Amino acid sequence: MAFNRPDQFQKLNAPFDLCIIGGGASGAGVALDATLRGYRVLLIEKGDFAAQTSSKSTKLVHGGVRYLEQAVKKLDWQQFKMVYKALHERKILLQNAPFLAHPLALLTPCYSWFDRIYYRIGMWMYDRIAGNTNLKPSRGLNQGQMHRLCANLNTEHVRGGVLYYDGQFNDARYALATLQAAEAAGACVINYAELNSFVHSSKSLKIKEVCWTDSLSGQTYQIPVKAVVNATGPFTDHVRALANPKLKPRMKVSRGAHIVLAADFWPGTTALLIPKTDDGRVIFVIPWRDYVLVGTTDDPDQLTESPEILASEVDYLLDYFNRYSTKKASLSDVSATFVGQRPLLQVALDHTLSTDTKSLVRDHEVEVDGRSKLVSIMGGKWTTYRVMAADTMDELEREVLHQTVTPCRTQDHILVGGHENEKTRFMSEAGNLPSDIQVHLWSTYGSQAFELLALDLTRLHPELPYVAGELAYQKEHEMATCWDDTLMRRWGIGLRNERLAAEIRANKKEAFAS
Ligand SMILES: Cc1cc2nc3c(=O)[nH]c(=O)nc-3n(C[C@H](O)[C@H](O)[C@H](O)COP(=O)(O)OP(=O)(O)OC[C@H]3O[C@@H](n4cnc5c(N)ncnc54)[C@H](O)[C@@H]3O)c2cc1C
Repeated sequence: MAFNRPDQFQKLNAPFDLCIIGGGASGAGVALDATLRGYRVLLIEKGDFAAQTSSKSTKLVHGGVRYLEQAVKKLDWQQFKMVYKALHERKILLQNAPFLAHPLALLTPCYSWFDRIYYRIGMWMYDRIAGNTNLKPSRGLNQGQMHRLCANLNTEHVRGGVLYYDGQFNDARYALATLQAAEAAGACVINYAELNSFVHSSKSLKIKEVCWTDSLSGQTYQIPVKAVVNATGPFTDHVRALANPKLKPRMKVSRGAHIVLAADFWPGTTALLIPKTDDGRVIFVIPWRDYVLVGTTDDPDQLTESPEILASEVDYLLDYFNRYSTKKASLSDVSATFVGQRPLLQVALDHTLSTDTKSLVRDHEVEVDGRSKLVSIMGGKWTTYRVMAADTMDELEREVLHQTVTPCRTQDHILVGGHENEKTRFMSEAGNLPSDIQVHLWSTYGSQAFELLALDLTRLHPELPYVAGELAYQKEHEMATCWDDTLMRRWGIGLRNERLAAEIRANKKEAFAS
């Protein structure tokens, strides 16, 4: 069976153990974990895979330097454990799909000797916590070394800096590769499929069927299942209320805005960590596939399907970028913007909701509703998606299926496209193609890229490496159904350069119905 909608709908004839609602990082992780444990899994996603928060992240695979600082300052053991967990997951995430994730050097400038010692010790701790999973040791830098790595860094008043390493990844495609791996292991995975309601057992009120609609055909389905996982991120409370209206809301949504600039605003491959803004945040300036990503903000928000950036957020991010860069950017230099909504977990249920989302811990929690037996995976971050999935499945087996916990098998499971040992052979077989197309095909499809070589390799836009055959491939093997699926997530150009994305869509209108 291929990863396309007609093939996945055929799988609906078989019985399922488990239905996962939501096809972002959390749902994708649970789908793979559950399938590898031997369960028959159905995953439904109301939009496209990763269309919500999971494609709007800052693209960092990280423990979180700021979270470590908070853990130390507040002597917060929970926060410390979360950083430890994320630092150890970092390497696994990079290893399981190397074509989508790689180490990233980050530079923190220091403006006093105290700062320099403070950050040096902080990054030393960061390395130590990562232990043998550390990507590369951090080190102190003088002004000259900093300038060599970040030519546009404004070094006025700078007293040196600290260089450290985290990971950078392609979030939307990482979710897709995880879902494809789940599908290859036997799961049925469908996008544009929205959960509407549950059917409960009349005696125990446990969920026994899921009712959902295929939003492309309008057809409705009612499928019996033994257990249901709610992995709907910021929408978690909505699904919890469908399962049991008595449940109190647990989620708090925080918005994070990004702006994108051309690469020459921040040349090189080293990112900048602005360690403290006037309002106590951190902001990153990150080289990102021929562009520079600047973000992010962290403010309480109302839940919405498509959050738009505010003019004040663009001004704020431009202001900070310009404070640290010698090449100044203005509004007309912004090639794209995007906003994500963080699914933060409000821990203290009995307390009035905090208005400060920056202070909420980014850890996760698995909740099993005693009445409906809905299992909700709440909070967390992209970096820890795999442990979140493992915790969810452990809890589900214990509390809903009442059986012994089966071992998690995702740690060494290479995702679809992740066979890095094929890279040299691919580069040689693709040797006649222009180098930007070669690099694009490998960094998008990994070891699946061989299949593209047999398709139409005509360039679709003079400024972009995308080729005609990819459109057919993405429909047939990646479940793309419309231009947004391709531009915003499978290529991601819509998040980097809105003009180019609009041009490619206008030139090739006939490729998709919408
Ligand atoms: C601005 C920002 C920057 C971030 N940066 C980082 C970072 O650099 N590194 C990091 O590790 N983490 C980062 N995070 C956190 C990370 O992105 C999130 O924790 C993660 O993506 C959440 O994934 P999720 O699957 O829980 O939620 P989502 O990605 O939102 O997925 C939930 C899915 O459920 C679907 N859904 C909802 N209701 C239904 C329904 N009724 N039926 C079917 N489907 C439904 C939605 O359409 C959605 O696709 C960032 C978050 C934000 C907002």
